[in-house]
Amino acid sequence: MNNSMTRVPVREQDAKVRATNFDEVCLGYNDEEAVLEAERCLNCKNPLCMKGCPVSIHIPDFITKIKEKDIAGAADVIALSSALPAVCGRVCPQETQCEGKCVRGIKGEAVSIGKLERYVADWAREHDYVAAKAGEPNGKKVAVIGSGPSGLTCAGDLAKLGYDVTIFEAFHQPGGVLVYGIPEFRLPKDRVVRPEIENVKKLGVKIDTNVIVGRSLTIDDLLNDEGFDAVFVGSGAGLPRFMNIPGESANGVYSANEFLTRNNLMKAFREDADTPIKVGKKVVVVGGGNVAMDAARTALRLGAEVHVVYRRSEEELPARVEEVHHAKEEGIIFDLLQNPVEIYVDENDWVKGMKIQRMKLGEPDASGRRRPEEIPGDVYDLDCDMVIMSLGTSPNPLIKQTTEGLDTNKHGCIIAKEENGQTSKTAVFAGGDAVTGAATVILAMGAGKAAAKGIDDFLNGRA
Ligand SMILES: Cc1cc2nc3c(=O)[nH]c(=O)nc-3n(C[C@H](O)[C@H](O)[C@H](O)COP(=O)(O)OP(=O)(O)OC[C@H]3O[C@@H](n4cnc5c(N)ncnc54)[C@H](O)[C@@H]3O)c2cc1C
Ligand code: SF4
Repeated sequence: MNNSMTRVPVREQDAKVRATNFDEVCLGYNDEEAVLEAERCLNCKNPLCMKGCPVSIHIPDFITKIKEKDIAGAADVIALSSALPAVCGRVCPQETQCEGKCVRGIKGEAVSIGKLERYVADWAREHDYVAAKAGEPNGKKVAVIGSGPSGLTCAGDLAKLGYDVTIFEAFHQPGGVLVYGIPEFRLPKDRVVRPEIENVKKLGVKIDTNVIVGRSLTIDDLLNDEGFDAVFVGSGAGLPRFMNIPGESANGVYSANEFLTRNNLMKAFREDADTPIKVGKKVVVVGGGNVAMDAARTALRLGAEVHVVYRRSEEELPARVEEVHHAKEEGIIFDLLQNPVEIYVDENDWVKGMKIQRMKLGEPDASGRRRPEEIPGDVYDLDCDMVIMSLGTSPNPLIKQTTEGLDTNKHGCIIAKEENGQTSKTAVFAGGDAVTGAATVILAMGAGKAAAKGIDDFLNGRA
C-alpha cells in the first residue's frame, strides 16, 4: 500500500523542447512507477471509479493485477470492456470520469487511472499481447459506416460474437478523429493508433477505405443488394461551424478540421509531405475545447505566436484540464472573456487582424454555464495573419439525405435509442458523435458497444 496523498508524477518532454516537435508530450510510467502508483488504489468494495467510466472497466481489478506485476492479466481485464485502451488512457477526460469519482481524490489526488490504463495497453502492444479473441462465424453480415472509435468498437464486439463485419470508411485511412483530428503529440499514429486498429482487424473485421456511404453506395444498397443483415452508423460529426462574421471567408481563415487534417492525416508538418500547410506569424484560434487546444498547439509547433480567444472564462473552458495546462506551459496566450466580431482583410484578401469584443459572465444558460454577455463599447483590435475557427462541429447531412426513413433532430444528429442504438429505420443502428454531436472518444465507444449488443439482440429475435 502506498499512502501518499499525491500521485506518482509522470515523465513528460520538457515544455521548451516539445513546443518545437510533434513527438508525444507525455512519456508514461515505467514498471516501477506503475506499481508504485497502483499501490495507492484502496481496492474499494464499492468502486466509485467504475461508475464514472462510460464502458465500466473493472478498474480495481486491473489495478490489482498491476500490483501483482501480472500485466497480461491486467490487459485481459481491460479488454473485457474496452477495445482501445492505449487511446483512452491518453485522451479520456479522466478528471470528470473515473478519476473524478476516485475516493482517494477526496483528501488528496485521485489514483492515476488513465496513466495506468495506458501503461498496461502500451505493455501489451510492446509484448505483442492480444487479449481479445474472434468468435465462431455465425453466418450473418453487418456493415459499419465510419472507422472512428464508435465504429471500431461496434465492429470489434460484433466480430467477437462471430459476425462477418465490414467497415466502410470515407477517408483513405481508418481511425476517424483519432487519425485526422487529435495530433501526434497527444496520440502517436504509427506507434499507438494503428496497432490498436490492427487488433480490431485481427478479429476478422474488414476495412474498406475510400467509400463514402451516400455517394459510393447507400444504406439501402447495403441492406437490399449487398447482403448485410444490419448497419451501424458511426459517421461522427465532422462538419465545421463558422461564426458568420465579416471577413470570415478571407485567405488565412481555416476551420480547425481543415488545419488539423492537413497536419495529422496528410502529415503537412513533415518536409517530404505533398500537402502544404500555411501558418502565420501570429495565429488566433477561436474557441476553448480540445479541438481549439490541438489547433493552437499545432500552430505553435509550426512556429507561430498563438492566441486562444474564448468568450467565457478559464473555469468554463471545455478542454481537458491537462491539455490547457500543457498549452500554457508551451506558451499559448489565452485571451479570455473575448469574442471576435469582425476579421480585417488586406488588399489581397488576406487576414490582417480582428476586432474583438470584451465579454462578462451573466446568468447560467441552458447548459448550466454562465452566459457570456458583451460589455457595451469595450472593443479592441488584435493583429494577426491567420485565424483558426474552432467553434464545434455537427454531423454531415449526407447520410440523412440519402437514407429514407432515418430520423434526425434539429441539430442534424441521428435519433437513436441510448440503450441499443436502434434508429427509426429497421436494421439500422447508430452511435457516437453522429447521434450526440461532438462528444468524447469513450462515449462513442460506449455507444458502439451498446449498439453491437442491440444488433445481436435484433438479429437473434430478442428485440
Ligand atoms: C481535434 C479533436 C480533439 C479531440 N480531443 C479529444 C480528447 O482529448 N478526448 C476525447 O475523449 N475526445 C476528443 N475529441 C472528440 C472525439 O475524438 C470524438 O468524440 C470521437 O472520435 C467520436 O467518435 P465517432 O466514432 O463517433 O466519430 P469519428 O471519430 O468522427 O469517426 C467517424 C468516421 O466516419 C467517417 N465517415 C463520415 N461520414 C462517412 C460516410 N458517409 N461514409 C463513410 N465514412 C464516413 C469519417 O471519415 C470518420 O473516419 C476530439 C475531437 C477532435 C476533432
Ligand atoms: S475509487 Fe480509487 S481507490 Fe477506489 S478502487 Fe477505484 S481507483 Fe482504487
